[in-house]
Amino acid sequence: MRQDVSKAGGLVPLFGNGGWEAVIGLEIHVQLNTRTKMFCGCRVTFGEPPNTHVCPVCLGHPGVLPVINEKAVEYATRIALALECRIAEHTIFHRKNYFYPDLPKAYQISQYDLPLGVGGHLDVELEDGTLLPVGITRVHLEEDAGKLIHAGGASGRIDGADYSLVDFNRGGTPLVEIVTEPDIKSPEQARAFLMQLRNLVRQLGVSDVNMEEGSLRCDANVSVRRPEEPFGTKTELKNMNSFRFLHHGLEAEIERQIALLEAGESVVQETVHFDPVTGRVFTLRGKEEAHDYRYFPEPDLPPLELSREYVERIRASLPELPAARKERLIRQYGLSSKEAAILAADRPLADYFEAVAQATGEPRLSANWVLGDLSGYLNARGLDVEACPVTASALAELLGLVLEGTLSGKMAKEVFEAMAASGKCARDIVAERGLGQISDVAQLEAVVARVVEANPGPAEEYRQGRERVLGFFVGQVMKETGGQANPQLVNDLLRKHLGTAAKA
Ligand code: ADP
Ligand code: ZN
Ligand code: MG
Repeated sequence: MRQDVSKAGGLVPLFGNGGWEAVIGLEIHVQLNTRTKMFCGCRVTFGEPPNTHVCPVCLGHPGVLPVINEKAVEYATRIALALECRIAEHTIFHRKNYFYPDLPKAYQISQYDLPLGVGGHLDVELEDGTLLPVGITRVHLEEDAGKLIHAGGASGRIDGADYSLVDFNRGGTPLVEIVTEPDIKSPEQARAFLMQLRNLVRQLGVSDVNMEEGSLRCDANVSVRRPEEPFGTKTELKNMNSFRFLHHGLEAEIERQIALLEAGESVVQETVHFDPVTGRVFTLRGKEEAHDYRYFPEPDLPPLELSREYVERIRASLPELPAARKERLIRQYGLSSKEAAILAADRPLADYFEAVAQATGEPRLSANWVLGDLSGYLNARGLDVEACPVTASALAELLGLVLEGTLSGKMAKEVFEAMAASGKCARDIVAERGLGQISDVAQLEAVVARVVEANPGPAEEYRQGRERVLGFFVGQVMKETGGQANPQLVNDLLRKHLGTAAKA
């Protein structure tokens, strides 16, 4: 793959030798963590015994009536607002008709031409620090289907089993579907977008957004073209259930499409499947049914009217979102764009940083520590900051000792390790280990005077203008004090003494 750096807006990756460019749009499903399902009172659960959270409504029995879950509407509105969508004043639900064994009603209640939110965007922070604006076409509410369990395993008749089972616990779980514009240009960008979206939704507190458990799912639409040409025919990669699969699946599919086009063949619009084991994509050509869902307005549900007061109330209740927080971290603490981006993407870490910066009054030193030693410590152990044995106030106390001159930066690192290992506070460790830096002027002055007196030769050299001799004296004072003298103070005192001696 070559990188063409000539384009504005960061790197636009070109694929293969023919200078192909990828065009990608994502369709993301977010399972909401409401207490109950979208249209009935069954609990939303995960990992419970099959078919234990079902009722006539979510099993699609005739003669029952769905009722809209108000919390799900609120959560979907939170997502749509966080993506800066316009929220519909008037929306309705439709029935999307199709047959599949995990869908007992033979239709899914979804939204069609009047989605809850439209016209949003999410600006993705790319590796090189540039922003990729990705348009959000729509955000809508729907219900999940049940879950098929293939007794023979995902690929068919392993162990002789040739049947599938269905668990309806998931059926009727509230889902938010988010559809992007085809603004994404590479597998890396697709992955970065999805990660940032996951972060955003997690911060809204409306979903577990866990790809392994299926509370965050992603379908990827992709086509290739030569730059400046119209879009090519797209294919759809279904259910990319990890960031790595999304990335690798797109790579493999882009490669397949380029090979087809370069061989003079054409891409067929269809669903393609990615096999993570072989790393290859395959199609089920011919078996694919043409989709004609025959959407009908849902006659059993009233229209959803979202008053402007309601929308504004939800907007006001949103937490500070990553993009806004990033800007504030730069403004308020003078952080670099990169530092602010790292913190803004990780709310607990940013909270931790802000607590340390406020307690010490020294944002620069605090950022260096939180993004340096602290993050290094956490990463090495695979810990989240919430599980860090050194709390923000404990770190602030340690940095206070550095700021008052009791500890050098090097000593502080040692104390930090000891704090993390023992859970003790900085002052106790300093006292126990006799680590304190000597910053007592009278005490150091005596040492400095002694050292200067004992070395008349070098003192004379210094007075003749050999600045470098100062280093020799600093070394002598450090030796006398077992390395515990405050270096800045030693420097000041030496200059003073050597100067005074010169005048004398
Ligand atoms: P469909 O009618 O097949 O559902 P849509 O226009 O609704 O297609 O788009 C579905 C998704 O596919 C969106 O995320 C959109 O951005 C993306 N998409 C549309 N056209 C293309 C294309 N030519 N190449 C890649 N992605 C595309
Ligand atoms: Zn139910
Ligand atoms: Mg569509």
